[in-house]
Formats: sequence, structure tokens, C-alpha cells
Amino acid sequence: MTETVARHDVVIVGAGPAGMTAAVYAGRALRSTLVIEKGIPGGQLNETDRIENWPGFAEPVSAPELMTALRSQAERLGAEIVQDEALRIEPGRRIHRVVTSRHPIEARAVILAPGSRPRELSAEGSARLKGRGVSYCATCDGFFFQGKRVVVVGAGDSGLMEALFLTRFADSVAIVVRHPEEDPRAIRASGLLRRRAESHPKIRFLWNREVAEVVGDRSVTAVRLRRLDDREIEEVPTDGIFVSVGHMPQTEFLRSSVPLDSDGYIVTDSRLRTSIPGIFAAGDARIDAHRYAQAVIAAGEGATASLEAEQYLAE
Ligand SMILES: Cc1cc2nc3c(=O)[nH]c(=O)nc-3n(C[C@H](O)[C@H](O)[C@H](O)COP(=O)(O)OP(=O)(O)OC[C@H]3O[C@@H](n4cnc5c(N)ncnc54)[C@H](O)[C@@H]3O)c2cc1C
Repeated sequence: MTETVARHDVVIVGAGPAGMTAAVYAGRALRSTLVIEKGIPGGQLNETDRIENWPGFAEPVSAPELMTALRSQAERLGAEIVQDEALRIEPGRRIHRVVTSRHPIEARAVILAPGSRPRELSAEGSARLKGRGVSYCATCDGFFFQGKRVVVVGAGDSGLMEALFLTRFADSVAIVVRHPEEDPRAIRASGLLRRRAESHPKIRFLWNREVAEVVGDRSVTAVRLRRLDDREIEEVPTDGIFVSVGHMPQTEFLRSSVPLDSDGYIVTDSRLRTSIPGIFAAGDARIDAHRYAQAVIAAGEGATASLEAEQYLAE
């Protein structure tokens, strides 16, 4: 029996800000456009209630509402958004195949926008209090901690950058570090960032400790830390915990087909082209994204990838 395979000009994997903006551009170019989304369209922004750094809104806007509007815009311009999961990509010379959990789809151009997830804290209470004091994005949530006490977990470049950023809002910022102060592995950030953090009057380091439990009923009230020398538990009162222990791009399904870097990010050139002609990438799953994982940047990359795909198709 022959398999019926749907064919589209542009197939986009992921309906976050990157994928849906790519769909707006592809739709406006009158390309038959399919967006495959395994969860709820909107991506990571569905996990936060308000966004106030998306351009064009004087007041904070509901992030899920913003994403619903972006979805409607893409659909009005002709894109079709389906709930399905891309399981793998089979690159071809002129036609690529996207194998999904339902059926294979053929595409003349593919835009990969599967995003990433922050690596989560495994300590007890952290999942329950996520969004209620446990945050994975200081740029996004720091504003809500004006005059409060916060704890940062992670002492890499991004952890120290988050801590320094949070000093604009919070009264005190404590950084939890897994190693003793004299251990060369203690801080994995650049020397300059370390110097800035160490000399900042609002920042203090809690060396040689790990998070044992996040405490709070409706929101975070304290964190229990385990001292790694004597295994004693101490409770530190806090209003918020910012976790910065890395990101994980959602690119497992691309491992055998598309070049990824050693951390799993999709490798592209500056025009967002992968090394496979006709396959592009945008947003938080793309190499370099971990520097500034922001919705407006992902959307901008979605637009760029779509314009590049259009140029590729026109050629
Ligand atoms: C709690 C929180 C608050 C934030 N607040 C802000 C903020 O205030 N301002 C800001 O600018 N940024 C904020 N961000 C960051 C912002 O959400 C991200 O930078 C942005 O969403 C990245 O967009 P993206 O389209 O690349 O990826 P994502 O938003 O991650 O979307 C990717 C989509 O692809 C789907 N997908 C993945 N793999 C597959 C597959 N195999 N098949 C089908 N679908 C797949 C996922 O389900 C997801 O919906 C926040 C992030 C979080 C977690």
C-alpha cells in the first residue's frame, strides 16, 4: 500500500515565539506552511503570566494572551498549526522528510525552532514552587523582587550575571556554590564577573553548600541548604530562588540528522542556515541562544530564518 505523504513548502518544528514568527513570514510569502507543535502553541512563554519586555506594550501583557494573538496572526496569514511531535528529520537533496508521531511530512524547507528548557533544580519543593518564587529567568522575573531577598543557585557566567542583574531590584543576593571558596572549580565564571560579584555590597557567597529543599506553602519563604563538609542543614530565609544551572536544548530528535554542538545546540551560520541546504534554525535551540534566551530575540531569528528559507525556495 502506498503511503500518502503531505507536502508543504515550509515545515516549522516548534510553535514558540521563533516558530510562530517564522510562520507569519512564510504565510505572508504565500508559502504553504505547516507548524508542528508537540505541546501548547506559545512555547516557554506559556509558563509565565506577564511579559513586559516585548516591544510595543506600555503595560505588562499576559504572555499566554500574547502567544494566542501570535498564533491567530500566523493562522490568518495561512499557516496551519498542528499538534504533533517531530520524531526525526530525514534530509533529502531537494525534499526533506519530517517524521512525526502521526505520519511523515515532506518539506521543501524546514525551520527548526524546538527551543530549550532550563535545567531544573531537583531539590524537594522546587517543582511545586516553580513560578511562585522559584524562577529560571532573572531577566524575566527580577522586577518582581524589588526590595526582597533572593538566592541564586549556580556560579557560572550566567549565574553571576543573573546575580548582578538581580542587585538592581533585590536588597540582598546570596549565591549558593557547591565547592569551598579555595577550590578552583568553585566559580566557573570569568574573572571579571567574579570580581564584580565579590565586590558588590549586596552579594554574598554561601560556599560549599547545595540546595536540599525549597520551603514555602503558597510561595517561597526559605531554602534549606546542606553544608557539604559536615552534611548539616541550615535554613536561609528568602523570597525567591533563581536557578541558573544551565539549559538543555530540545534537540534530541535531531541528533542523527542535523549538526549540533557538544551541548546539543543546532549549529548554523550567521544567516541561520544549517550545513544542510534548505534546513534552517531559530530561537533558543540555536547555537549562541544561551547567551540571551529572550522571546523577542527568538522571534527576530524566526523572521530571519523564514526570509532565508524564502530566498532558498525562490532560488
Ligand atoms: C518562566 C519563563 C519566563 C520567561 N519570561 C520571559 C520574558 O519575560 N521575556 C522574554 O523575552 N523571555 C522570557 N522567557 C524566555 C522566552 O520564553 C524564550 O527565550 C523563548 O520562548 C524562546 O522561544 P523559542 O521559540 O526559541 O522556543 P520555545 O518558546 O521553547 O518554543 C519551542 C516550542 O517547540 C516545541 N517543540 C520542541 N520540540 C519539539 C518537537 N520535537 N516536535 C514538536 N514541537 C516541539 C516545544 O513544545 C515548544 O512549544 C521566559 C522563559 C521562561 C521559562
